[in-house]
Amino acid sequence: MSLLQVRKLTKFYAAGTSGLVVKALDRLDLDVPQGEFVCIMGPSGSGKSTLLNIVAGLERPTSGQVVWDGRDVTRLSAKEWAALRRRDLGFVFQTFNLLDALTVEENVALPLMLNRVDVASAAERVRVFLSELNLLEIADRYPHELSGGQQQRVAVARAMVHRPKLVLADEPTGSLDSASSQSVLELFMELNAVQTTTILMATHDPFAASYAHRVVFMKDGKVYNQLDRAGSRRSF
Ligand code: ADP
Ligand code: ADP
Repeated sequence: MSLLQVRKLTKFYAAGTSGLVVKALDRLDLDVPQGEFVCIMGPSGSGKSTLLNIVAGLERPTSGQVVWDGRDVTRLSAKEWAALRRRDLGFVFQTFNLLDALTVEENVALPLMLNRVDVASAAERVRVFLSELNLLEIADRYPHELSGGQQQRVAVARAMVHRPKLVLADEPTGSLDSASSQSVLELFMELNAVQTTTILMATHDPFAASYAHRVVFMKDGKVYNQLDRAGSRRSF
């Protein structure tokens, strides 16, 4: 069964004061099986961020459904969405979004704290995890002491440390040079393989898309093509 089923998802926005309406998503259908690494590509304004925001429960659709693990989450309360996000979702953004006042280790521990893992077990889990990801040597540093690529690898670790079912990434390589992009994408790929975490990544970057099992092309709020990548960097 699919981890995520999106059905006839439609989102209208009122565009400013003109009374015009923007159709950001137009009866979009998408299925994402558990464990898949999917990239969404499409021009600016094609609805990629809107799709991710609705799947994350950060915005409400105008109509249509989002089904998670067989459960229709379209009409969950804000409290139920918060619980779902805390437990089952991880986020990675273009701008890293680490907390500047916290060290790498503390940033990565945050999702475990939010899930009420006790402090000693969380610290142990974070140390082991950072070690597996070759990030232990920067565990005590602060974000401003790191390169962009290092910050983004820490952000990926933070998004994955609580073993969420799904990680949503919006242009995660958009601020990185190609060497840093590669190290970040390899980390996504490794965690997708090892933890079987499902990844849904919106990107303009063809290099990022070359890591995906499947590329979904969007335009005007619709899927207009899909590419199954049997020859992706790791076979699915
Ligand atoms: P993408 O991520 O592919 O660039 P978006 O999902 O950000 O596309 O935007 C899709 C369309 O919806 C665009 O026309 C955008 O201007 C519009 N849009 C997105 N968010 C809002 C909003 N909060 N209010 C009004 N229009 C929006
Ligand atoms: P991207 O292309 O990465 O989606 P954007 O700059 O289009 O980035 O949008 C960034 C955020 O701003 C989106 O999450 C969207 O919800 C919001 N947004 C986009 N267009 C509009 C708009 N016309 N009015 C208000 N909010 C918008």
